[in-house]
Amino acid sequence: MAERVDPTTRLQSGQASLLTNWAGNVVYGAAQTATPATVDELRQIVVASTCAKAVGSGHSFRAIASTRGTLISMREFARIDSPGADGSVRVGAGVTYGDLARHLASNGRALANFASLPHISVGGAVATATHGSGPQNPALSSAVAALELVLADGSLRTIRRGDPEFDGAVVSLGCLGVVAAVTLETVAAFELSQYVFEAIPWPRTERELSALLRSGYSTSLFVSWARPNVEQVWVKSADPMEELCGVRPAASPRHPIDGADPSHTTEQLGVPGPAAERLPHFRFEGIPSAGDELQSEYAVGAVDAVAALRALRAIGPQLAPLLHVSEIRAVASDSFWLSPFYERDSITFHFTWKRSPAVAAAVALVETVLAPWQPRPHWAKLFTYSDEFLDAAFPRLDSFEQLRYRYDPGGKFRD
Ligand SMILES: Cc1cc2nc3c(=O)[nH]c(=O)nc-3n(C[C@H](O)[C@H](O)[C@H](O)COP(=O)(O)OP(=O)(O)OC[C@H]3O[C@@H](n4cnc5c(N)ncnc54)[C@H](O)[C@@H]3O)c2cc1C
Repeated sequence: MAERVDPTTRLQSGQASLLTNWAGNVVYGAAQTATPATVDELRQIVVASTCAKAVGSGHSFRAIASTRGTLISMREFARIDSPGADGSVRVGAGVTYGDLARHLASNGRALANFASLPHISVGGAVATATHGSGPQNPALSSAVAALELVLADGSLRTIRRGDPEFDGAVVSLGCLGVVAAVTLETVAAFELSQYVFEAIPWPRTERELSALLRSGYSTSLFVSWARPNVEQVWVKSADPMEELCGVRPAASPRHPIDGADPSHTTEQLGVPGPAAERLPHFRFEGIPSAGDELQSEYAVGAVDAVAALRALRAIGPQLAPLLHVSEIRAVASDSFWLSPFYERDSITFHFTWKRSPAVAAAVALVETVLAPWQPRPHWAKLFTYSDEFLDAAFPRLDSFEQLRYRYDPGGKFRD
């Protein structure tokens, strides 16, 4: 397994033009880096840069944080205010979900959902429509109540839910400016228990798939596409569970990747605990996923998911040797123009690839096979789609381009 270096370390010590993302497959290529600690410093940096891009924790697999100009690390924007009377909390965009969850827990509050890992920044996750699972759980961007954005001319604009441009500005891929702070809605702290069930029969109908993904508050199916069943079903449940499809829960902790160390995963075996320590698959202090990996992911409409699943199973033998694991999740629809879940309850098909030159062809094969169901790619993960394809897949892409032009007519954040 390759040595993993925290990208913030790379940002501190590396030569700017050689800084890479978490996976090491993207070189940001920036002429210089900057690590502002205040909004005024951030504004000055943005004004002084011909082109610039914010970077959070650098967990994206595509070059969406790359810039020829100034790479602006948001790690110093780590302030977390106390939750307000309405439960909302204002945080610096560089705060990680892990730190935020701990702060909220000490105030009796929690976020409604998490991605698989708590190591990522709020700014980066919101900008890319990062999601967890649960048919009633939309992407993490849906918790946003307001954004404070530094624009290309250095001005600061606050965009609140209800403003006409809000739905365009939340999932922005860093193309509108640099988000300095985000106000997020929270919920009262709640507990969940996590169970892993193995060798569950493949769902054959929309009803069976929907039932499986509704087994708990948040459910993930892990598959290799090589076996006659779903290898693992991870259920984060508010209620105790005795069985799923007649199968008893695993009696010892599991890792989604065959042979990987389960001590990095969040507590299982039905032990109740804070939702923030059960909803992510990986512990904040642990190593997420495999490390030596690439990822791609596609969302299709929930109504089409069983047909898409069947088509993927048919090419399973070609995919399996190249994969660490695949994950299937449910995500509720939202209204953000660039979100893969825009106005569509979705099922996502995720692929954690081993590093191999053959991955490019496998990604293209998955895209060809999913084509009949209007797949929308995860912006932060690998895909090969053309601009024309993306135009058709994201019906508000044109509206976003107009918004981008109004906010950043000179294309400072366009890289
Ligand atoms: C091991 C692993 C597991 C993952 N699991 C999941 C998962 O469960 N669900 C899921 O949906 N995704 C998942 N991802 C993808 C991940 O959530 C996204 O890559 C997310 O963007 C990571 O946040 P980041 O802070 O690292 O963003 P970065 O990669 O740093 O940036 C992503 C984008 O956001 C922009 N951006 C960042 N901060 C700001 C800011 N302050 N202002 C403006 N723009 C900004 C950047 O310019 C860039 O365009 C996973 C990735 C890894 C490596």
